[in-house]
Amino acid sequence: MKKLWLKIGLSFFILFFIVMVIVGFFSGELMKSVYLHMKENQLQDDAKILLTTTKLEDVDLDQNADKIQSDLKPLEDKIDARITVIDQSGDVIADTKEDPHSLGSHMNRPEVQEVLEQGEEVGIATRKSSTLGYSMLYVAVPITHNGVTDGVLRISISLESVEKAVHQLWLSLTLIFGLALIFIGFISAVIARRITRPVNEIIDVSMDLANHRYYSRITGKTNGELQDLSLSVNQLAQSLEKQMQEIELNQQRLNGIVQNLVSGVMLIDQRKLIVMTNPMMEQIIGEKGLTGKAYYEVLKSFALTQLVDQCLEKKTFQQEEITIYFPRELILDANVSPILSKTGNITGVILLLHDITEIRRLENVRSEFVANVSHELKTPVTALKGFAETLLDGAMYDEALLKKFLTIIKEESDRLHRLIMDILELSRIEQKHVSMNMEQVDVEDVVITTMDTVSSMALEKRIQLVPPNLASPVIIQAERDRLQQILINLLSNAIVYTPQDGTVSVDVTENEANGTIAITVTDNGIGIPVKDIDRIFERFYRVDRARSRHSGGTGLGLSIVKHIVESCGGQIQVESIEGSGTTFTVILPK
Ligand code: ADP
Repeated sequence: MKKLWLKIGLSFFILFFIVMVIVGFFSGELMKSVYLHMKENQLQDDAKILLTTTKLEDVDLDQNADKIQSDLKPLEDKIDARITVIDQSGDVIADTKEDPHSLGSHMNRPEVQEVLEQGEEVGIATRKSSTLGYSMLYVAVPITHNGVTDGVLRISISLESVEKAVHQLWLSLTLIFGLALIFIGFISAVIARRITRPVNEIIDVSMDLANHRYYSRITGKTNGELQDLSLSVNQLAQSLEKQMQEIELNQQRLNGIVQNLVSGVMLIDQRKLIVMTNPMMEQIIGEKGLTGKAYYEVLKSFALTQLVDQCLEKKTFQQEEITIYFPRELILDANVSPILSKTGNITGVILLLHDITEIRRLENVRSEFVANVSHELKTPVTALKGFAETLLDGAMYDEALLKKFLTIIKEESDRLHRLIMDILELSRIEQKHVSMNMEQVDVEDVVITTMDTVSSMALEKRIQLVPPNLASPVIIQAERDRLQQILINLLSNAIVYTPQDGTVSVDVTENEANGTIAITVTDNGIGIPVKDIDRIFERFYRVDRARSRHSGGTGLGLSIVKHIVESCGGQIQVESIEGSGTTFTVILPK
């Protein structure tokens, strides 16, 4: 039986039932004895009245037996009882039910003995009549003649009526008790429900809390200890809800951090299964849905797997720079930390992968740059030194040689100057020392001015410069000098790498949708081989070193252009077909 109210209600009911049965039994017995006692008193009174009315005490019993018999006979119906007169020796003188002669001595009857032998005022007995065959109540009183007990007047009634009355009494009692029990049962149920309602509510709320429904509260009104309990449960629920909210918030924060971390994170448990990864880890590994898989199946690098193995084995932090080749070549700074329990057992490991490919590449670029700079500087300096020494060794006395060598020395120092200026410019842009004198710039105007600047170069090679044909002026917010620097570099490259009689054109288009402009510089020159296209923006990178040097290039022009464009928030693209021509497109925000 699960319902508490049913238990309490039933307990109440059973208790009441037992009490009522006991009370009923005793009250029944009590009423029976009271009733019997009343009957005894009534019979005693009847006997005494009979003694007076029949004047039995005035006559000799034995000698008037027949008369007494005939006198008593009619009275039987009146008092509705059997009347018996017994003499001193126990013989029956008269009896209203039976023939007195047929009845034996009654001396052995207890009620008679009480009166005749013990001299009691009244003798009472109940028993089954041997004469009549059913239970009777006998009341005997002495018949006194001249102060001497002469005989006994006995009145008896059938106990059947008494028993009937008692039976009736029992029936009534049972009926009343039955009705009372139904009523009590109902009241018990109501009371039990009222008592258990708050308890049930407390149980329900506790179950809710166990099932993570922390918003659940006890709302019913109670009093006493149950109210205290309800308050405690509500406080518990409130503090649980608050704690869970904090945990959830922390979890969200932690999740947010881990999910957005630029390093790959992988949590591995002691069974070597992946418990958690972040998007960066999936990107590095090139696979999604890693949770639940074994790390040695997922990490496609022997070095990485070995590092995790070592951490699991040694229970110490492991770090190594590892290059992976799948899904793409990456240099990773791999860190594996053990997660240890309080007892020092390993419960898992955290694998952190930092992609340091770009850092390493930049480091390479830097050291290459230093080597390149030294190399690039060395060439003109060697030339300067060589020609100066030759002149000093006597060549200066030959005027033609002097002039020739001094011209070379001037060209080389110009180159050296250009190189140093370009390097300084690049370093200035890199350090973001670009002054930001933003102004409204008419792009067409800048293009034409720049074309004028390079026109002598173009003229030498009879290259046609085609300016943009714009319907309306294109105005952008930019730094005029920087824009000019971009155009000079692109235009002079186009002129340098286009053979005689070629064409170099500039076009400007506006993209209203994303608020940008595109400046294209197109030539029909030698073009750039596909293998070099990705590298032409690198410092000192030249497709044809000899040719570039011959043209006076430093190999820094496009690097500078790219840096300026990017520092303006724009981008540069190149399309080229070897032998047909090249198009550089600079996209700048307006
Ligand atoms: P440089 O000073 O050598 O011109 P740049 O950085 O300006 O250096 O250019 C890098 C290389 O890109 C050049 O050496 C050249 O080979 C190639 N290049 C640049 N512009 C063009 C062009 N318009 N047509 C063909 N090749 C070009």
